Amino acid sequence: MNEQLTKDYAKKLDQQNDLKTYRDEFYIQPDSIYFDGNSLGLLSKRAESTLMQLFDSWKQYGIDGWTNGEHPWFYLSEKLGAANAPLVGAQPEEVVVTGSTTVNLHQLVSTFYQPEGTKTKILADELNFPSDIYALKSQLQLHGYDPAEHLVQVESQDGRTLQEEDIIEAMTDDIALIVLPSVLYRSGQLLDMQRLTAAAHQRGIVIGFDLCHSVGSIPHALSDWDVDFAFWCTYKHLNGGPGSVGGLYVNRKHFGTAPGLAGWFSSNKDKQFDMEHILTPAADSGAYQMGTPHVLSLAPLLGSLSIFNEVGIEAVRAQSLKLTNYFMMLIDAELGDYSFVVANPRDAATRGGHIYLEHAEAARICKALKANHVIPDFRTPNGIRLAPVALYNTFEEVWEVVQILKTIMEEEQYKKFENKRDVVA
Ligand SMILES: *Cc1c(COP(=O)(O)O)cnc(C)c1O
Repeated sequence: MNEQLTKDYAKKLDQQNDLKTYRDEFYIQPDSIYFDGNSLGLLSKRAESTLMQLFDSWKQYGIDGWTNGEHPWFYLSEKLGAANAPLVGAQPEEVVVTGSTTVNLHQLVSTFYQPEGTKTKILADELNFPSDIYALKSQLQLHGYDPAEHLVQVESQDGRTLQEEDIIEAMTDDIALIVLPSVLYRSGQLLDMQRLTAAAHQRGIVIGFDLCHSVGSIPHALSDWDVDFAFWCTYKHLNGGPGSVGGLYVNRKHFGTAPGLAGWFSSNKDKQFDMEHILTPAADSGAYQMGTPHVLSLAPLLGSLSIFNEVGIEAVRAQSLKLTNYFMMLIDAELGDYSFVVANPRDAATRGGHIYLEHAEAARICKALKANHVIPDFRTPNGIRLAPVALYNTFEEVWEVVQILKTIMEEEQYKKFENKRDVVA
């Protein structure tokens, strides 16, 4: 037998993993394999501890927690912005942790979508997550434009990925703003943000990226690439917890652009409590906040981001690539008889942090995986998303998952279930 296909080989790879000690920092349920860290990352002990710390500051200080204690709440969004900045390749003042993905997208489009003359359209793609598309359509409607005409969605040639040439070709004179994902949520394709940004700027178009599926998984250099703006959630690879507060980046060249959606937390912090009716916005990305921060949903990020900053995102990415590479090797070797299609790009330069398997029986294969204590997620119509996460999953778990999939197919275990998605997939 090929040595690379053995469980011992998986164990050997785990022993050689420089990041192996981090697994112990997370709450891993015994007898289950969690491959859904790209939908909701697991709780770390550090995140739990900083959440308890901020509970305690409420207990101890009451209202004075805004300015007292180790992590004064009034400055928490900026402090976490600085901690998040290295993960997106930005300067500390360019990032603030606020809002949610969808809220931040609304804020950034409200701020940077400035239709003028015949330059009125927004360019997106047909594969993006629905929330982004709903937000863009509603923004167009608020401006009195018909989304059917003013939202241009680049088409996919294969239903899975986007061609950068097609995106660039769609950057026509009538486009005022571009919003694209960094990593596609289904196929996991990683777009070349640097190339797309350069092409947009050559044509005088403002461009922003949704980093939900790349932040905490892949290094970025937003400032060097000169990206105009970006936004992301922190509950996927960043392990901030359900509903944790999102992130937002604004390139410093845009500092001073008035927030499209203002609120008192958009203020320069020294002015905020002057309570004037004329807003003096913060001089940096802080200006794009609106209201009172969700302190208890920020708190876990203090602990969680400290892990990423200790490890470094380059090391996270290197380990993630090894895991997904190994995963694909085993899928090719073991599952060839069962009509799975590896639908994510295989190349390291264009692949994100998860594996995407397509299969006609995907919905019920996912149910069979769950019955076998493997947590994947199903993406309609026929996708199984599996994320071996660098900080807490192992090569051995990858090996186990492939064996379990093989048994499910061999024994046709999936036939016990209905091929239909659950309410939350
Ligand atoms: C997860 C995700 C979202 C979720 O948006 P929320 O506002 O956090 O609910 C939006 N867009 C993409 C691309 C995502 O992956």
